[in-house]
Amino acid sequence: SAVQEEEFDVVVVGGGPAGSTLGSLVSMQGHRVLILEKETFPRYQIGESLLPSTIHGICELLGVTEELAQAGFPRKQGGTFRWGASTTPWNFSFSVSPKIAGRTSFAYQVERSKFDKILLDNAARKGAVVRENSAVLDVFEDGGRVAGVVYRDVDGAEHRVRATYVVDGSGNTSNLYKRVGGTREYSEFFRSLALFGYFENGARMDEPYRGNIFCEAFPSGWFWYIPLSDTLTSVGAVVRREDAAKIQGNPETALNNLIAESSTVKGFLSGATRVTEGQYGDIRVRKDYSYHNTSFWRPGMILIGDAACFVDPVFSSGVHLATYSGLLAARSINSVLAGTVDEKDAFDEFEARYRREYGVFYEFLMSFYDMHVDENSYFWSAKKVTSSSHTELESFVELVAGMSTTGFELNDAEAAAVRFKENSTEFSDAIDTMNAQNEQNMAPLFKSAVVRKAMQEGAQVQTRAQLGEDAGDESPLFQGGLVASSDGLFWVRSE
Ligand code: FAD
Repeated sequence: SAVQEEEFDVVVVGGGPAGSTLGSLVSMQGHRVLILEKETFPRYQIGESLLPSTIHGICELLGVTEELAQAGFPRKQGGTFRWGASTTPWNFSFSVSPKIAGRTSFAYQVERSKFDKILLDNAARKGAVVRENSAVLDVFEDGGRVAGVVYRDVDGAEHRVRATYVVDGSGNTSNLYKRVGGTREYSEFFRSLALFGYFENGARMDEPYRGNIFCEAFPSGWFWYIPLSDTLTSVGAVVRREDAAKIQGNPETALNNLIAESSTVKGFLSGATRVTEGQYGDIRVRKDYSYHNTSFWRPGMILIGDAACFVDPVFSSGVHLATYSGLLAARSINSVLAGTVDEKDAFDEFEARYRREYGVFYEFLMSFYDMHVDENSYFWSAKKVTSSSHTELESFVELVAGMSTTGFELNDAEAAAVRFKENSTEFSDAIDTMNAQNEQNMAPLFKSAVVRKAMQEGAQVQTRAQLGEDAGDESPLFQGGLVASSDGLFWVRSE
C-alpha cells in the first residue's frame, strides 16, 4: 500500500552507467531527478573494458574526467587480437582514428564497482536525489501515459513517485522494460554464453600494449583477458549456448578446460592464481545476452542502456551504448522540459539515433566474427554469416528498418548477408595489409567502412565534448531531423 506520493520531473530506475549519465545531464539543467537503485554501491558488474568516447566524450560532459584520471585505472590504448586468418596477434590502437588524436586517444579498463560509484556519486553532486537499496517494482499510468513508479525501500515499505518521465536504466535483469510495449528480440547469431572469473598475477603484454584488452579466438569460442590493475585480471570465455551443461557441472573445471584449449591466454595465466574471495571470488555465467527491444519509448517512459538493447561484448561497446543512450535521452528530456521540441520529435530522434548506433555495432561485430576462420569448430562455423538463418538476417533488417536515409541501404536479408560478407573480407584484407606494412600503422583498418562507421559517432560525441561551440554545426543524421546543441545537452532544429 502506498505510504506517500512524491513528485519529480524524472525518475531514473537503476544507477548504472546509463542511469547515472542521464540523471546527471538532466539534473544539470535544474530539473528534479530521482535515481532509484536496488543495490548499495559499490556493487559488482561485468563490462570492464571501455571505449574512448565514454571517457573523453560523455565523462567530460559529466565532469568526471579528472576523478577518473586519479582513480588509477589502467590505460587502454586499444585491443590486441589473436583473431582472423593468421595466428599472429594484431593490435587495434585508438590513436589512429584521426578525430580522436592525441590526449584523448585512450580509454580505461575499470573495476565497475569503482567506476559506477564515481558516476553515481557524481549524479548526486549534480543535484540528483539518489536512493540506494530501493527496488522499483512497477510503473503506473495515468491517461495512457506512464506517470510514475512504485518502489520498495530497505525496510520493505512501498512508495509511489509521480514523474513526467520514467527512465528505465535497470540493465538486463529487470523486467520493467516490458512496460514500454513491444517485444525483446534475442539474436540467434550472437546467442552465446560467457563464463568468467578473476586471476592474480597473470602476465602483462609489453608497452604500449600493457593496458590493452587481449582477445583470443580458440576452437570453442573466444577469450577476453583484461588487466584491471598491475596484478588483477578479468578473464572470460564466450562459448556456445549448447555448452551450458558443461559449465553448470563445475564452473571451475569448465573454465580450466577452456583455458587449456587456448594458447596465449593459457600462457599468460601459467603463473597466476584464481581469486576465490570477495567480489571477484565467484566464477560467473551470463547467457543469451544479445537482444534489442522493438520499442525504446512510449509517452512517459524511455529505455536506455541494457534495458533497451545489448550486442555481444567483443568490442567493448556495452558501456558506450549505455552512456551514449543516456546522453541522447537526456537531450530529449531537456528539450521537452524546456519546451523547445515536442515530445514525439524529441524521442523519435532519440530512438532513431540509438537504434542506428546499435545497428552499426551489430553489423561491425557480425563481420568481426565472420572474419575468423576455423572450419572444424562448431562455434566458428555458426559464426559464418553465410550459415546464419534468414530470420536472423531479417531481424537485422528490421532493426535498421526505416533508417534508409542514414547510410543503411539494406532492403532484404540477402542484401544484409552480402554486406556482412563484404565487410568481413574488407576486415581480413585490412589486417593482412597492416601486418605486412607495420603492425602499428592502423590506416588500412580505419579505411574499412565498417570500422570507420563504428568509431564515427563516438568520435563525434568526443569532439563536441572537447570543443563545445568550436566543434561547429552538425548536420542532421536523418532527413528533417534534429541536431545536438553546441553544449551537447539539447536538440535543436538545424538551420
Ligand atoms: P547496469 O550496469 O546493469 O546497471 C543497471 C542498474 O540497475 C544496476 O545497478 C541494478 O542494480 C539496477 N537495477 C536493476 N533492477 C532494478 C530495479 N528494479 N530497481 C532499481 N534498480 C534496479 N561492456 C563494455 O563496455 N565493456 C566490456 O568489456 C563488456 N564486457 C561484457 C561482458 C559480458 C559477458 C557481458 C554480458 C556484458 C559486457 N559488457 C561490456 C556490457 C555491460 O556489462 C553493459 O552494457 C553495461 O553494464 C550496461 O549498463 P547499464 O547502466 O545499462 O546497466
